[in-house]
Amino acid sequence: MRVVVVGAGISGLVAAYRLRAVLGSELELVLVERRERIGGTLHTGTLAGGPVDLGAEAFVGRRPEIPALLGELGLEDQLVHPSGLRPLIWSGGTAHPLPTGTLMGIPAQAESMAGLVDEATLRQIAEEPARPLHWAPGGDISVAELVAERFGAQVVSRSVEPLLGGVYAGLANSIGVRSALPGLAATLDAGAANLSQAVSRALPPPSTAPVFGGIRDGYRVLLDALLAAAAPQLDIDTTAKDLTRTSHGWRLEPVGECDAVVLATPAPVTADLLDSVVPEAAGAAARIELSSSAVVALALPVDTPLPENSGILVATGESLRAKAFTLSSRKWPHLAGRDVAVVRASFGRFGDDSLLALSDAELIATATEDLATVTGIPVRPVTAAVQRWRGGLPQYAPGHTELVSTIESAVAAVPGLAVAGAYLHGVGVPACAASGTAAAERILAGRTN
Ligand SMILES: Cc1cc2nc3c(=O)[nH]c(=O)nc-3n(C[C@H](O)[C@H](O)[C@H](O)COP(=O)(O)OP(=O)(O)OC[C@H]3O[C@@H](n4cnc5c(N)ncnc54)[C@H](O)[C@@H]3O)c2cc1C
Repeated sequence: MRVVVVGAGISGLVAAYRLRAVLGSELELVLVERRERIGGTLHTGTLAGGPVDLGAEAFVGRRPEIPALLGELGLEDQLVHPSGLRPLIWSGGTAHPLPTGTLMGIPAQAESMAGLVDEATLRQIAEEPARPLHWAPGGDISVAELVAERFGAQVVSRSVEPLLGGVYAGLANSIGVRSALPGLAATLDAGAANLSQAVSRALPPPSTAPVFGGIRDGYRVLLDALLAAAAPQLDIDTTAKDLTRTSHGWRLEPVGECDAVVLATPAPVTADLLDSVVPEAAGAAARIELSSSAVVALALPVDTPLPENSGILVATGESLRAKAFTLSSRKWPHLAGRDVAVVRASFGRFGDDSLLALSDAELIATATEDLATVTGIPVRPVTAAVQRWRGGLPQYAPGHTELVSTIESAVAAVPGLAVAGAYLHGVGVPACAASGTAAAERILAGRTN
């Protein structure tokens, strides 16, 4: 059986690895990757002689996929957890503790927001349960529309957007409630009388499990192990195009004919590839927009007196360019032992690609200046690394779940074809890995039926 996987991000690598694990030497596997390296938006660079992740640097600790993969690949010793320090929010020109007891920054009660928002907003939150809520079960609106109407604009810009910006490089008005907060949509559908009640019902039960996990020597370790185990013919620096049906299977340029194809590419590329073979899926995928971002990793003198926090998230509307800082040496105990202090500055919000035009020197200078502002300490980088991510993150706009059902049901009707990727069931690395596994299972199921 000859299978072509397009896209060597985590989604494609996991699909390739799962196919090889089941089919062994029966499988002729080709992995096609447009860039000159594997990993897609996962990229471990080098900073002051040590590995540093310049895309994702963590994964949600509650999800099992990444620890499971590390275990299967004999990399258990690479699994690390954060120190447990909390982040701050920079708002109104000052740092505040990140509110607790919220769902993606949406409070269940006014006390969570004390100190972060003004008195009028606190009153609005406290009085929200008394106002009738009009929610159409099964419907979808933007997070901004729901939260601003119930709790006020300050909750959106100071509490919700700093968190949404971290996950999607999105704004509350570019992200829909149903896909970004499925638990909240479910409690609203089930008839919660108001938003406070819906949030308190949707909050996960208290847990002592670490919120995040990470990989000690960077995501590179996992990517390399997946590639080695999948053992594909790797065509890097190769752009797949012109997908067509043949009498037996598929033809894809420039790799030729095959029995099955997994498209683990970003939504717009998937839309182009599916255009002539599954136009309904192509049309839906083409409607998913992307947002761009950039990461600047700074190496600072090891004695730089950074605050005792894991990071600083910036509220929207502040006069800073950076949207967040990860104080990596504080957040991750395994980085604390290095001879430099590592800080990552993140840039980029949906609809604003201006940062992509900045030079490396400008991005480093901006990151340095903004970090000095939010910490109140002099910042003098020893060295830095810059990574731009053009179109790195899909936006889960209102109605996203319907687009995904359209794509998946249209693709399911076509034998020997599967899709995977960050635009389907979550942008996080674990969700992408799960989508790669599901795509491989689909190809395998088609083969045995
Ligand atoms: C700055 C940043 C920080 C992030 N931080 C986190 C985090 O801390 N935790 C977390 O869980 N997630 C994080 N994410 C999200 C997560 O990293 C991504 O959603 C995930 O890695 C996407 O994987 P993917 O394989 O679906 O897509 P991609 O990584 O985009 O892979 C798709 C691949 O397809 C290739 N390709 C495209 N077109 C073609 C073509 N025609 N032919 C051949 N190849 C093609 C691309 O070059 C790419 O390699 C972050 C994302 C960004 C941008």
